[in-house]
Amino acid sequence: MINKAYKYRIYPTEEQKVTLAKTFGCVRFVYNTALKAKTDAWSNEQRNMTYVQTSALLTEIKAKEEFIWLNEVSSVPLQQSLRNLQSAFKNFFDKCASYPKFKSKHDTYQSAKYVNTAYTFRDGVLKLAKDKEPLDVRWSRQLPKAAKLTSITISKDSSNRYFVSIQVEDEVAKKKPLTTAIGIDLGVESFLATSNGDKVKSINVFRKSQAKLAKEQRRLAKKVKGSGGYQRAKLKVAKVHTKIADVRKDFLHKLSTKLINENQVICLEDLRISNMVKNRRLSKVISDQGWFEFTRQLQYKADWYGRQVVFVDPFYPSSKRCFECGHVAQRLPLNIRKWTCSACNHEHDRDINASKNILAAGLAVLANGANVRRNPTNVELSNSQ
Ligand SMILES: [Zn+2]
Repeated sequence: MINKAYKYRIYPTEEQKVTLAKTFGCVRFVYNTALKAKTDAWSNEQRNMTYVQTSALLTEIKAKEEFIWLNEVSSVPLQQSLRNLQSAFKNFFDKCASYPKFKSKHDTYQSAKYVNTAYTFRDGVLKLAKDKEPLDVRWSRQLPKAAKLTSITISKDSSNRYFVSIQVEDEVAKKKPLTTAIGIDLGVESFLATSNGDKVKSINVFRKSQAKLAKEQRRLAKKVKGSGGYQRAKLKVAKVHTKIADVRKDFLHKLSTKLINENQVICLEDLRISNMVKNRRLSKVISDQGWFEFTRQLQYKADWYGRQVVFVDPFYPSSKRCFECGHVAQRLPLNIRKWTCSACNHEHDRDINASKNILAAGLAVLANGANVRRNPTNVELSNSQ
């Protein structure tokens, strides 16, 4: 059994929009209150607050006159936000994520999660328990018939689009095992290079949309803050941003699916502990390129289909080592894209040579039976394909 999510656009009624806005606000408030309480408990008394304790805190707050408005929305998403906070802390302690941050109403993504006591799903009709009308869902792809719904998450992005992400438990047929293995070097010049000698170009969707973005930003700058024109211009800027994010996500999904379909073992560098992340300029490139999202997709798809992702220590000199003879070059500045090995005279493409070394190192890790999995809990599965 695996957890999978199916995401659909929804078109809430005006009444539903009001309820959702209230719910998002309450979810945020509860999350932030519990985050502050947990942080204080730790920094003042070195005490760890459990989920049960944050839940008791919520009950206490809801009984207070000044927070009576918390009772106007479904209590389920409020409880769920405490669970999300708990997962965020677990990921932090497992070193899979940074310290949880406070949520703001200006965040580009607002969401509320409902478990099955808070909604009904019958004959293809999805309805929140407290709503009069069902949700208007655009069923853009089919929900698997045998799938068991575990929860739904309703979200709104900065372009004011609403979505429902339906989490299901599903049987996934493992793919037929292959004998192929591939090494991948994530690059700055191209998105990636493989040990098969292929290169995949970055999509540069940002660069393409930059002119449009700059135009909308100039318009926004001329508006009076808070005016109607300002709000409309701001929404236009947000729409360019979400378009960029959508195109990038689609690119990453297609690429990760292709690699998983064609290879049994995929080896790449562990970016989490890479020095590159500490370099501010490079870490901007890494986030622009979507490397973390890409490795996350590779991992969960590998889990679904019975493939293996192996992470290689980034301090292994994958670029400077000649794959043909093992000689390690003294210096190889980032701008050198092709080099000739001084020991065996082999001419290398920097990134292809690196990916071949990564493959060899990954296979060595596998042969030694080292623990190569990392396992963030409760990963966002929205948009999974
Ligand atoms: Zn050599």
